[in-house]
Amino acid sequence: AKEDGRNTHRFFETDMGIAVNDRRELISDLRNAVANGEMELYFQPQYSLDNYAISGFEALVRWNHPTRGLVSPGDFIPLAEDTGLITQLGQWVLTEACRIAAGWPRHLRMAVNLSPRQLRGHAFGPVLIEALAKSGLRADRLELEVTESVLLTDSDEVLDALHQAKSLGVKVSMDDFGTGYSSLSYLRRFPFDKIKIDQSFVRSMAYSDDSISIVKAVIELAKNLDMTTTAEGVETRQLLDMLKDIGCNEAQGYFLGRPMPVAQAEELIFACEQS
Ligand code: C2E
Ligand code: CA
Ligand code: CA
Ligand code: CA
Repeated sequence: AKEDGRNTHRFFETDMGIAVNDRRELISDLRNAVANGEMELYFQPQYSLDNYAISGFEALVRWNHPTRGLVSPGDFIPLAEDTGLITQLGQWVLTEACRIAAGWPRHLRMAVNLSPRQLRGHAFGPVLIEALAKSGLRADRLELEVTESVLLTDSDEVLDALHQAKSLGVKVSMDDFGTGYSSLSYLRRFPFDKIKIDQSFVRSMAYSDDSISIVKAVIELAKNLDMTTTAEGVETRQLLDMLKDIGCNEAQGYFLGRPMPVAQAEELIFACEQS
């Protein structure tokens, strides 16, 4: 789980079933994996609640480890962050996601997750510009998803990088909204285009009126700030209907579609185009 990622001890012993002293081996594996193309992108569809059409996809990275099998990002992203490998990995994800999206119908957007560390230093701007230029993807079809931890660093570099992205026309979303310590103050510090309401709030709407009130308030707040909302972790029809009723713009979750390899995403896109 992502939340456990910082605690590498727990993360290695429980999530991967291997000892902490394998860490070094895993790091070298990861370094090779990034260089040798063992990383793969999966894509999860996002649906507009106006018409239930697909509005875009979120790119989610997977590691196809030769002996360990498919490793989930919660298990290796923290490692990549700790070791600095995230810079190279993040660049690959961004470039690959832009390349793939450029071949898809023009109304579809592509959302890419960014780690705080990718935005530090002054390398991100040029990487972004190159990914857009090389792929030919229109900037407004790209969305960068950042969590509150990105703004936690309080560094001008990070804010500059995000402002630069916006000035290029790229969209910026606040991911996992509501899970941090001061979500509201972050909304004031950066003009996000979109708020992604965290799965924990969405899921608890099924049994908690208070949760419904909170999600309603977030949607209202977003509207007043000229931001759109996407609900994450929509696992049932009931939740989907509730979210539409209270004015959420988009939804994403297992009920609508799981993250899938590129070929399957393209079949889905094609099937939707036909109908
Ligand atoms: P996230 O950005 O919040 O992504 C959503 C996660 O929730 C994904 O897990 C997705 O598979 C999962 N999910 C989607 N719908 C549902 C649902 O209905 N129910 C449940 N239970 N889960 C759902 P995944 O792919 O394992 O990714 C975990 C986290 O790893 C992501 O959380 C993101 O923070 C990070 N991550 C993934 N890809 C990248 C990447 O390319 N770069 C960076 N920096 N981080 C990434
Ligand atoms: Ca995300
Ligand atoms: Ca999220
Ligand atoms: Ca999350």
